[in-house]
Formats: sequence, structure tokens, C-alpha cells
Amino acid sequence: MIPFRNEPFTDFSVKENRKAFEAALDKVRSELGKEYDLIIGGKHIKTDQKVNSINPSNTKEVVGIVSEADEKLAEQAMQTAVDAFSWWKHVDPAARASVLFKAAAILRRKKHEFSAWMVMEAGKSWPEADGDTAEAIDFMEFYGREMLRLSERQPVTPLIGEQNELRYLPIGVGAIIPPWNFPLAITVGMTTSAIVAGNTVVLKPATPTNVIAYQFVKILEEAGLPAGVVNYVPGPGPVVGEYFVKHPMTRFISFTGSREVGLRINEQAAKTAPGQKWIKRVVAEMGGKDSIVVDEDADLDLAADAIVKSAFGFAGQKCSACSRAIVHKNVYDEVLAKVTEKTKSLKLGEADDVSIDLGPVVDDKAYNKILEYIEIGKKEGRLVAGGEKGDESGYFIQPTVFADVDPKARISQEEIFGPVLAFIKADSFDEALEIANNTEFGLTGAVICRDRLKLERARKEFHVGNLYFNRKCTGALVGVHPFGGFNMSGTDSKAGGRDYLLLFLQAQSVSEAL
Ligand code: NAD
Repeated sequence: MIPFRNEPFTDFSVKENRKAFEAALDKVRSELGKEYDLIIGGKHIKTDQKVNSINPSNTKEVVGIVSEADEKLAEQAMQTAVDAFSWWKHVDPAARASVLFKAAAILRRKKHEFSAWMVMEAGKSWPEADGDTAEAIDFMEFYGREMLRLSERQPVTPLIGEQNELRYLPIGVGAIIPPWNFPLAITVGMTTSAIVAGNTVVLKPATPTNVIAYQFVKILEEAGLPAGVVNYVPGPGPVVGEYFVKHPMTRFISFTGSREVGLRINEQAAKTAPGQKWIKRVVAEMGGKDSIVVDEDADLDLAADAIVKSAFGFAGQKCSACSRAIVHKNVYDEVLAKVTEKTKSLKLGEADDVSIDLGPVVDDKAYNKILEYIEIGKKEGRLVAGGEKGDESGYFIQPTVFADVDPKARISQEEIFGPVLAFIKADSFDEALEIANNTEFGLTGAVICRDRLKLERARKEFHVGNLYFNRKCTGALVGVHPFGGFNMSGTDSKAGGRDYLLLFLQAQSVSEAL
């Protein structure tokens, strides 16, 4: 087996690559507006309850019309997954891993097409969509190899007179509830980690990106995944998602999304339903309020570049996005001036235009929420860039920077999940670290600093799951930067790390007297 390597990103400065991507966009455009069914046990099911998936760059454009499940169909999907678990759990782990390797190969061949769907349905820029597809490929290559490793003989201490072994068993049916912001990578990672471990799943995709999730399920089918192992069950989170969370046959819930929904799921899952024989496991990866700390001796151009890239890539809609720049008072004005200038030069526009820096936000809910926070920001800080809507044909919001924000202000504390950045002044490096730790989240963070001793202090004291020095705080790579946060950012799991599959397995020790 070739060792795991990250999928390279596409270089869009190369003309051939741009042409290939344009062709993929044309293909996707020609397929807009189609209908998508539920897939339960391999059977396609249409329902009367439909939801339109919209292009956020052009809200008049319907990307797809998706059938939604109700509780009855959710029950059917659950029973199908329960039945499938009875035999899928016995399938050789190497065969399960082969499905992932095959699906990764198919996805690699259709790479631009999948990225083009994300441009149209999620409003991702070309490079952001390309990164998402690359990460999806990485997850399958990585988790496939991980399952091979975990299915090998596990080390136990030898004891004379006994033959002992420890092996990992799958646990049951999982409810997979992903977010829309990495509509391919996170959906793929959450689904394939669960099934390669021998579990079966009901997948309730995030509504704004139902179509991309459907395309992925079709790839699993093409890769030879037997019917019933993954069941595609779109529907409203509070109805279908919650039905799965509460179901007595649900063995685990793999959730990525907001703090509010994650906490609700955790609470619901803790209640034992009649007939339930286990304690449900909840893997919840949640929100962030991520900071970049800039020290007085830092490379200020590097700092400004890292802040702007981390704050405004995918319009700030990454859980890892920098939403707070905490800058030493001696360099505060200079860093603010550099960041303001860079921010003002960013090009906001339709995601299918290769020349844009950032596209729209995902839907009307996000749009209205972010605009509300901008109004709050106008009271809590000094507006130095953006602050307005863009073209109203889509959900466009200008990249926005507020200066002189109090570390305890709402825009310093609450996850906005849009292109809004707060600048906070710190009197010293000590104070900057203290501010960096003053939210209830703990997902990502970065320190831009040349002083080795200060970096070592940050390593010990900056309490986030993914900490970066002298670089941006977004762009974690599978296997290289296992990803997941502390505190209210989640249950301390690490997607794309060596511990991850263990969350969907249980270890059995078997001992035979000789
Ligand atoms: P969300 O919480 O609104 O929705 C996430 C999923 O939960 C969706 O599929 C939704 O339909 C479903 N859902 C909603 N209500 C539900 C309920 N009552 N029961 C069960 N399921 C329900 O989040 P979102 O807007 O899709 O995604 C953005 C959020 O995700 C941000 O907070 C972001 O920080 C977070 N996120 C975290 C990570 C991470 O790794 N920590 C990664 C990506 C995104």
C-alpha cells in the first residue's frame, strides 16, 4: 500500500486547468434544476415535501429540487440501516477500505465536476471548492488506511498459559449530521469514517447543500458500496435530524455544526429511549471564535496576509476562520492599516468567476444574521472596511473590519460565521494570550511572533485544538493537522487523525486458556 499523501491542489494559473474547470462548470450548469430523491436501501424515493437548493451567487437560480423525508421515512431508513448492520459488520475491513479507495479514485477523476457543484450550491470560490474536494479524497484515502491498521493484530502483553487478543468491533447505526460549509469534505469524512469501521448510517445532509451530498452518495454506489449501508435522508434538522438523535436504535451521532445544535443533540442523546441498550456516543464538532495574536516583533506583512486570508477565505464561513485579530499596541496601527488596505482590495463577486477573492454567504438565514452582527459591530467598534451588503442578486456581504473592539464585546465573543473581523488591542503579549483564551470556544488560533520563548509560552497556554505559528489559522490538512477543538468547540475529537476511527469502534479482549 502506498503511504498516505495529501491530494495536491489545482494550480489555476495554468490555462489548461482553468479550461478544464470551466468545462466542469458548464456541465454542472446544464444539470441545474433537476430533482433528487431520498435513497433508502438503494431505492429512490420521491416525496411531496420538496426543498429547493439555491445558488447563493444568484438566488433566482435553482441548483436542485430535493425530496425531503418525514418521520415515517426516517424510520424506514433507520430500520434499513439496522438490517444492513447485521451483515456489513462482518464484511472484511480490507473490503470495506477498498470501497473508500475506489470512491476516492472516482472522485479524483471527477474532481472539477464536484468542485463546480460546490461553486454553484455553496458559493465557494474555485480554489476553496478545489480544496474541499481534495480534502474529501484525503479523508477516504486516510481512513481506508487507518482501518487496515486497526484491523491488524493489536499488541497486548503476553501471558504464559493464555492466548490473548484485542480486536476492534463496529458499534452499530450512526446518525451522520454534517454542516453545509465543507459540504463535500466533512460529509465524506463523517460518513466514510463510520462505514469503514463497519457501521451503517443514516445521512441527513445540511439542507443548503443537499445536492452535493447526493452526488457523493452516488459515488459510493458506483464504488460498489452495498445498498443500505449509507442511506441518504434529507429533511429539516429539527425533524429528521432530531428523530435520528432520539431513536433507540441509534448507537452514535456524528455531528458537525453550531454550538447551539450540538449542545441540544448532546442533551437529547443522553436521554435513554425505551428499548435502548447502550449509551449513545456523541461526536460533536462545533463552532469557533478564532484569534490571530500578533506580537510587537512580528513580521507585519506576514501577519496582515495571515489575518486577511484566514478571515475572508470562503467569506469567513469556516469554523477555523480568524474572527479576532489581537495585536500588540506597539504595532496595532500598522497592522490595522495593512489589513484594512488588503481587505478593501478584495474582490467580492459571483463564485463562478475565477477572479474573485470571496463569494456570497450561503443562504438568507446566514445573510440576515451577519448583517445584524454588522449593525452590532457599528456600535461596538470603529468600522474601517466594508460594512455593507454587496449586489443584491445574491447573498453578498462586503468583507468587514471593525477596529478598537473590546475583548468582551459581542462581536469578540459570539460566532458570526461570515466576513466580519474584530481588531482588539493588547498592552502586552501576556494580555494578548489572555484575550485569546477568553471565549468559551477553543478551535483554532495563530501566533505571529519571532520570539522563541513567547512561541513556547503560547504552545503551553493558548488553549485551542489547532494552533499555528507564523501562518494562517485555516487550511488544516488531513493527516498533517488532525482537526478539532476544545471547550465549546466540540468533544475533543480529531478528524483526519489516528485516533478518529476509534470513536466508531469498540475494543474486545478475547482470552483463551491454553
Ligand atoms: P447547524 O448547527 O445549523 O446545522 C448542522 C446540521 O445539524 C445540519 O445538518 C442541520 O440540518 C442539523 N440540525 C439542525 N437542527 C437540528 C436538530 N435539532 N437535531 C438534529 N440535527 C439538527 O450548523 P451549520 O450552519 O450547518 O454549520 C455551521 C456551523 O458548523 C458553525 O458553527 C461552524 O463553526 C460549525 N463547524 C464546525 C466544524 C468543526 O470541525 N468544529 C467544522 C465545520 C463547521
